Amino acid sequence: MSEVISIANQKGGVGKTTTAVNLAASLAEKGKKVLLLDIDPQSNATTSLGFSRGDYEFNIYHVLIGTKKLSEVILKTEVKNLKLVPSNIGLVGIEKEFYNPKAKNRELVLKSKIKEISSKFDFIIIDSPPALGPITINALSASDSVIIPIQCEFFALEGLAQLLNTVSLLKKTINPKLKIKGFLPTMYSGQNNLSKQVLADLSHHFKDKLFHMKKGKECIVVPRNVKIAESPSFGKPVTTYAAKSKGSLAYRDLATVIARG
Ligand code: ATP
Ligand code: MG
Repeated sequence: MSEVISIANQKGGVGKTTTAVNLAASLAEKGKKVLLLDIDPQSNATTSLGFSRGDYEFNIYHVLIGTKKLSEVILKTEVKNLKLVPSNIGLVGIEKEFYNPKAKNRELVLKSKIKEISSKFDFIIIDSPPALGPITINALSASDSVIIPIQCEFFALEGLAQLLNTVSLLKKTINPKLKIKGFLPTMYSGQNNLSKQVLADLSHHFKDKLFHMKKGKECIVVPRNVKIAESPSFGKPVTTYAAKSKGSLAYRDLATVIARG
């Protein structure tokens, strides 16, 4: 069975897609069989791996409405061991269906689809949209754990309580196994006092939930790094586009921690 990890934060632009793509690619680089599942109508994870709309006919929307099986929409990527379930702007239509109060078990649709392919992968990484709506609820309900990227900027922790409440509510109801895998500080800039402050706040409130390569060492922080920002426009993860960049190293460290469980 695969380990399913959602990357979630309802705040926009905090590094969810960047983390999903580069964690998935780094795990694949380690020889793990990885499926990156894009469940954001913006389809940024799909684009980041070099796919544009004309490259694939079916996407996660067709799986969720039941016209395609998950196994039928999986795409091979240029990265060995990494496969992708693409998304498309048409996915916005699913919100309407999920809001239909007559729809049974609508929080569990994705979970039931993932079950069909779960044995084929070591890890399934889900990139979710910047909202706490039915799509993200489906992602969290299908997951063993969630990684929460936190952008090291002003307002970083705003809205976090709401996200944590949602996770704990899901844990008490439909997904008792759901864990917070950890918080990942992103876009950290060592020269910026604000970045340092956000990291200090995170360490203060969630010391046990930061990622560490070794006990007692500093936690894993994704630096603000131009190679990370450039790589999606080349349709590659940063680990391929700029293998030795600081951004790559940070995501590889994260993958090391995730892979050892
Ligand atoms: P959304 O909420 O819209 O889905 P997101 O949380 O997925 O956004 P990303 O798309 O990953 O956020 O990142 C937002 C922007 O910041 C992108 O342009 C991305 O390339 C850039 N970015 C992310 N992480 C870094 C980093 N460590 N260094 C530099 N730029 C970064
Ligand atoms: Mg995104």
